[in-house]
Parts: sequence; C-alpha cells; structure tokens
Amino acid sequence: MTGSSLLPWLEAPLAQALHATRGHALLIHGPQGVGQFELALAVAAATLCEGEASVRPGGRACGHCSACHLIAARTHPDLLVLVPEVLQLALGWSGADEAGEEEGASKSKAKPSKEIRVAAVRAAIAFAQQTTSRGGAKLVVLYPAERMNPTSANMLLKTLEEPPGQARFILGSAAPQRLLPTVRSRCQVLRLPLPGAQLAIRWLQSRGVAEPQVVLAAAGGQPMDVIERLALGCDAQAWQRLPREVLAGQGTTLAAWPLPMVVDALQKLCHDALACAVGAAPRYFAAASVSGGGDVARLTACARTLREAARNAEHPLNAPLGIEALVQTLHRALRSPAAVSSSRERASPLATLRRP
Ligand SMILES: [Zn+2]
Repeated sequence: MTGSSLLPWLEAPLAQALHATRGHALLIHGPQGVGQFELALAVAAATLCEGEASVRPGGRACGHCSACHLIAARTHPDLLVLVPEVLQLALGWSGADEAGEEEGASKSKAKPSKEIRVAAVRAAIAFAQQTTSRGGAKLVVLYPAERMNPTSANMLLKTLEEPPGQARFILGSAAPQRLLPTVRSRCQVLRLPLPGAQLAIRWLQSRGVAEPQVVLAAAGGQPMDVIERLALGCDAQAWQRLPREVLAGQGTTLAAWPLPMVVDALQKLCHDALACAVGAAPRYFAAASVSGGGDVARLTACARTLREAARNAEHPLNAPLGIEALVQTLHRALRSPAAVSSSRERASPLATLRRP
C-alpha cells in the first residue's frame, strides 16, 4: 500500500486518519464505491509499517519494509482482514474465509455468504487477544461492518469496550446507520466524502473507461462503483439509450442486467424525470434525455413503487416479469398525462411482481 497505489482521492482522508486517529477503533464510512476498504487497509498498513520515518511522508506505509511486503503478500501475522465470502475474490482477501471455516465448512458448497460470519468475528476476537508477532500493534480490518449479524456485532462490542492491549480495529461501512449504535459509539468516526468529479474522471480515464463523465454520473459520483457496473454491462452507451427505451416501453438493455441494478437504474431515471418536471437539474442522465414532460403525480407514485421494489430486489423474484412490470410503470409516468390511457394503469405492478 504505497503512496503511488493509493486511490488519488484517499490521500487527504488518509493524512487525516493518520494525524487524528486516537484510540483503538476507527469507523470509516461514506457512500458506497468511494474506497472505505482501501482507506482502512492503508491506515492498517501505515500502523504496521516498520520503515524509517524519513521514507514515510505523512506517516504512510513505506511499501518497502518487510512488514509492508508481508501485507502485500496477505501474510502479515498481525493483520486480519474480515470480509464476507461474496467480496473476497473482488477485494483479494480471504482471511475471513479461513477464520470462519469451522462454521462455514458444511456450507462450503452453498452460495458464498454475504455476511461476516459469527465464527469469523469470534476468530478475530481471539486474534486480537494474542500477543503481537512483530512487536507492534495487531490490526483487524472489518468490511463492510454492517454485514455483521446482531450476534457477531454484540460479540465484537465486548472487545471494543475492553480492547486487549495491542489490538486496533478498523471498520469500514457504507451504511453506518445499520450498525449497532453501541458499536458506532465505541469508534472514532471518519467520514469519507464523494471524491471531486475531476479527480474521479481522471482516475477512470487512467483505467481506460470510455465517456467517464457519463458513467460517473450514472453511478452517482462513486468511481469504484463505475468499475463494478461496467463489468455488469452498464457502460456509457447502454446508460444513454436507457431513457429512450423506457419511454418507448422497452426493457431491452435492462433485461441483461441483474435485478438490483435494473431497479437502481429505473429509480435514477424516475428521479431525474421528476427533477426536470419540477424545474430542477437532473443528476444521473443528460437533461435532454429526461426532460420529456413526465407527470409529477405519476412519477411520485412510481418512485414509491420503485423504492419498494428496491427493498425486494435482493430476494429471488420472477426477474423478467418484475423488470417488465417496473418498466411499464415508469413508461406510463414518463409520458405526458394526456398521452396515457387511464384504463391501462389499474393493475399494480407490485401485485404482478409478487405473483408466485
Ligand atoms: Zn513499510
């Protein structure tokens, strides 16, 4: 975790974290896709780095000492990184998997867990109580912290209240409101803001992303989400043709996307159409593509329907039927009131969605 590999918008927050962090537990939170995990690792690396102060500007990890090499190789004995199974491949850490093995063994052939398991947290607590291997601190990085279930969180709480001598915890979260208040209150809090658009666009350009301003707006300004969404088929071209398709009552582009991304896209389209309808600026799409004179009352009702669909999007539904129904709801709301035949809007799209 050298300076050069750090995401450019994390430089200032890292300096802040290294300068101001006191105590044994830090909670880094901010919107999804801005690098909480990367910042947590950079703070951990800086804490464990054994390089001379002269090669560590701002107290960051030097990237060259043996501690830094062990971290890069994922084998530092005083660093434990807990992430749910579903994120291990993407983030390149499997520590939680090993720590959670005893509980997870029977499930190893099942779908990878989205939770940080109880056994993993138990192992982290045991890890924190061991003496340090290299004479410095012992670091536990836990991300996303809201993926702990209540049992895990309560177990961790005890350790956060009475931390073993050398242990430090760094929690990353995009949804701190879902953490136990008692866990939050035990942590020093560092809020990670959205990066500046220019910085984010330059970073996306450096990674070869086409039309970065379009996909950055599509992702609500969250640059790392852009990368994730591109992998799922949400590129600039797809995003730009979406309003036209929905206005025509088609879900061609959406049909290839996972349901949570479909619902997210429809919510953003609905938001922007509503913004334009009341004279505000759109946020996710180009103004010309969403200012078609949608009906405010219908768009408001549609926003409610989509919010409910978003709550259900992670659960197994009849996805093609669900997408079709949602597209039709937004399609009707996007057209001017006169153009809509009142007889076509009686069926609730959610009633269709829930049909077994
Ligand atoms: Zn170092």
